[in-house]
Amino acid sequence: MSYAGPEPDGFDEDYYRDGAPRRRFGGRPVLVTFAALVPTALAAWLVWQVVSGPGDSEPPKVLPAPGQSSTVSPSQDEKASSPAPSTSKESKSAASSSAPSKASKAPAKPAGGSGPLKGKLVVIDPGHNPGNFRHTTEINRSVNVGNGSKECDTTGTSTNAGYTEARFTLDVAKRMRAYLEQRGATVQLTQDGHRAWGPCVDERAEIGNKAKADAVVSVHADGSGEGNRGFHVILPASVRAGAADTTPIVKPSRDLGERIAGLYVKATGQAPSNYVGGGTGLDTRSDLGGLNLSKVPKVFIECGNMRDSQDVERLTSDAWRQKAAQGISEGIMSFLGG
Ligand code: ZN
Repeated sequence: MSYAGPEPDGFDEDYYRDGAPRRRFGGRPVLVTFAALVPTALAAWLVWQVVSGPGDSEPPKVLPAPGQSSTVSPSQDEKASSPAPSTSKESKSAASSSAPSKASKAPAKPAGGSGPLKGKLVVIDPGHNPGNFRHTTEINRSVNVGNGSKECDTTGTSTNAGYTEARFTLDVAKRMRAYLEQRGATVQLTQDGHRAWGPCVDERAEIGNKAKADAVVSVHADGSGEGNRGFHVILPASVRAGAADTTPIVKPSRDLGERIAGLYVKATGQAPSNYVGGGTGLDTRSDLGGLNLSKVPKVFIECGNMRDSQDVERLTSDAWRQKAAQGISEGIMSFLGG
């Protein structure tokens, strides 16, 4: 990314590709869902403004209307940052486990509980892995992401005090799983602290693909500089190269991402990024293997910046992470018509 933080972030996978996206919302035209979304997002911005009052962040702008292209920021790479302290319990347990087990098996199709999301399958991809710091050789190997190659995975960033992004993403992912399962969804995580490192970004995408997930969200937090704050959702660009073909997922992924952005603001009060996306809270990228290789609707969310003191107060709060998980989950639920 254009900032000098330790971890230009965003990284992982999911996607979509063979065939056309499944229809949702009982066959109603996709445009209807977009039209419904814009007011939702706008209302969320207004709620945020009322709740937070004038701040030093850039004022939020209305999300792009259907058909408008989003802000595309210059290519932002995904270099791994220097390791943060790996003293957490998660790191220890991850390191003591054996070789990476095969990621959770894709259920044939949702057994499902009861609730509005019954029959829906959601894959949550907690970015990085608490054990990655101890497996640099494994995570540094190259994997093909269609239009190039990337590291298998990265360590992720951390707060200055050593709270790692990998712990954050796993925590939020588990809270999301609980929220969505309570509403009837079948939820699969790409990693659940059960493996020593990874998965690689191509495998993260493959997990969503094999599961034929109805929606996939990769959870991250950024590693930019102090003063850069706010969240942004990363949408897949149109990429057709090698094994990558995001053509079928670009549109539904944008729908998913816009809904998440709007409802995340409403739930958390977190403003859209003041350093990526021109105030929209949305960014589009073609360099993330997790998006390039996905054949099902997928987005990433950078929940905040772990190197900004204001964002850190939020990211390190249990209560705030619950709100973050709720906001993302509500966006998924809206997308799935639940
Ligand atoms: Zn990350």
